[in-house]
Amino acid sequence: MWGYKELIERLTQQGFEESVAHLRQAKSAFDRAEWESANAQVRTALESLFNAVAHFSLGTEKRGGEARKLLETKGILRAREASLLKSVMDVAGGAGSHAGRSGADESAGRFMAGLGMAYIGLGLVPDLVRVEQVLSVLDVPGERKIQDGDVESTCPSCRTAQRLSAETMHRDGHDTCYRCINGCQDIVRIGAPEGEAWEGRGYRLGDYVLRNAGDTLIHFPGGRSMLLAAQGAALMKRRPPAE
Ligand SMILES: [Zn+2]
Repeated sequence: MWGYKELIERLTQQGFEESVAHLRQAKSAFDRAEWESANAQVRTALESLFNAVAHFSLGTEKRGGEARKLLETKGILRAREASLLKSVMDVAGGAGSHAGRSGADESAGRFMAGLGMAYIGLGLVPDLVRVEQVLSVLDVPGERKIQDGDVESTCPSCRTAQRLSAETMHRDGHDTCYRCINGCQDIVRIGAPEGEAWEGRGYRLGDYVLRNAGDTLIHFPGGRSMLLAAQGAALMKRRPPAE
């Protein structure tokens, strides 16, 4: 079922940590019966989320009302959704509250309207690309496609071998990252190919580049396996200068 907890997970996965922090503060204010503060935090969480969505989809640094307006004029947010968002933000911000009616129920209603709007915001960004999707271009003998659970990577920090299906995923910019189960570091990153092929960056597969910082073993459903050796430049932020 959809709710607060699931929303927090999804937002975290998508890399919208600032919005998550405000929602957590909203929840904790709500639990302390501080209705006004809870509602204000819901409003800020939405503001942050739509800033991030605008930055992700349009690369803009615009924030607040300007960012939301841009989402609307570019057709990412439809007119009705944009006007719903505006109403929800106004309401969460305290507009229209009546004296003597700002109790738990009203605040809960405003909170839930905010959660609903956050789901609409989540729907504006694509799902994370999984390794199994990238590997689907491989011609694999057998009756089924490779899944994340068939791929075993070793963390360069703690040396723990682990299946990708056990790792937590998150977005960083337009890339998908898989993080070590012990939280050490990202082990695998999926991104778009860069302008020029880059030595030790990763493996180009179809539309993606699989960048693995640790040795990665693909266990094919039939029993064979294939090693993708760790790539030294997998996680570098910048290309090192040519020698
Ligand atoms: Zn580790």
